[in-house]
Amino acid sequence: MSESIADSIHQLFRKLHQHPELSNQEYETTKTIRSYLQKAHIRILELGAKTGVIAEIGSGSPVLALRADIDALPINEQTASNYKSQTPDVMHACGHDVHTSILMGAAYLLKQHEQDLKGTIRLLFQPAEENFSGALQFIDIGALKGVDAILGLHNNPNLAINQMASRAGPFSANVDRIEITIKGVGAHAARPESGIDPIVIGAQIVSAIQTISSRTISGLDAVIVSITKFLGGNTWNVIPETVEMEGTVRTLTPQVRAKVKQQLQSIIENIAIAMGAKAELRWFDGPPSVINDDKWVEFAQSIAKQMNYEVIDFKPQLGGEDFAHYLHQVPGAFINLGSQSSYALHHPKFEINIDMIMPAVNYLYILAKQALIELEHQSTGIK
Ligand SMILES: [Zn+2]
Ligand SMILES: [Zn+2]
Repeated sequence: MSESIADSIHQLFRKLHQHPELSNQEYETTKTIRSYLQKAHIRILELGAKTGVIAEIGSGSPVLALRADIDALPINEQTASNYKSQTPDVMHACGHDVHTSILMGAAYLLKQHEQDLKGTIRLLFQPAEENFSGALQFIDIGALKGVDAILGLHNNPNLAINQMASRAGPFSANVDRIEITIKGVGAHAARPESGIDPIVIGAQIVSAIQTISSRTISGLDAVIVSITKFLGGNTWNVIPETVEMEGTVRTLTPQVRAKVKQQLQSIIENIAIAMGAKAELRWFDGPPSVINDDKWVEFAQSIAKQMNYEVIDFKPQLGGEDFAHYLHQVPGAFINLGSQSSYALHHPKFEINIDMIMPAVNYLYILAKQALIELEHQSTGIK
């Protein structure tokens, strides 16, 4: 690999890390990505994205999309790094700067070998992953038009830099948000019999919904229901009229997701009715679970082995990832590459080991190039 690609990709990484931008505000990041693409004469598609960039290398079909997310988080960086964030309270604490840099590096290599490509590589530098809106924005403007398969990666601080992890089937969770309102009847705290106490009802609801995972859903299926906010009342001697709650539900499959939703509704409404109150559940769908295609996972793993990565079997995570939206439209795989940080993603001291960058660039380059050949084989039936 030419020294100059490594230099410019490390430079890009430091620049992005020093100038992080929040979801849907990635204006400078977008300019930087465009200028790096233009420097390499990579074709930018003008599809009307406000932030983020879509570009292409090669021509004709098949079309393989590669996605990197580009946004940062509202966190004040606390590392001792010499390329620390220069924007207070904003930090690339999820490593989207490294994803962007790896994709750019792979793009540079793919561009150098454009004549050898058996189809088109579409590069998706996607905004707003952290608020789960970017993938849908990109799908809306036609980012997946003509795409036959998609691959995406995320760094994983728990893995060493030579480790790759993925799994067939569910990889991340359905991430849904819930709001619950309980409407009782306010009263003097000394005369509860003249009111309907929404705090006591709320407490019973909080306990009862924990039986969903233990009594309603199989022990082999993952379910988390967490109530994270419980608001009611404003003084010591008045029973309030209402209680408001918020929380999140995490599941891995569409079937379990639907069952939990139904059961929550039933528990909340019926406990309230039994106590003479009214309760309402408002459910907000977040990103669905990333469901990896078996064949693409196997393919990504086999190339990783060839590139001397240690392939690790992965347990599904109950966090969210909006790459899921792409996988609902086209087959593909989402994988993890080790970034070997002592601190977790979203931690103010999170810091990747930069030695992961160039092996990842090389891997993604070979993976993309070979994936086009694989797609060609799939369409002609030749194996
Ligand atoms: Zn994140
Ligand atoms: Zn992330």
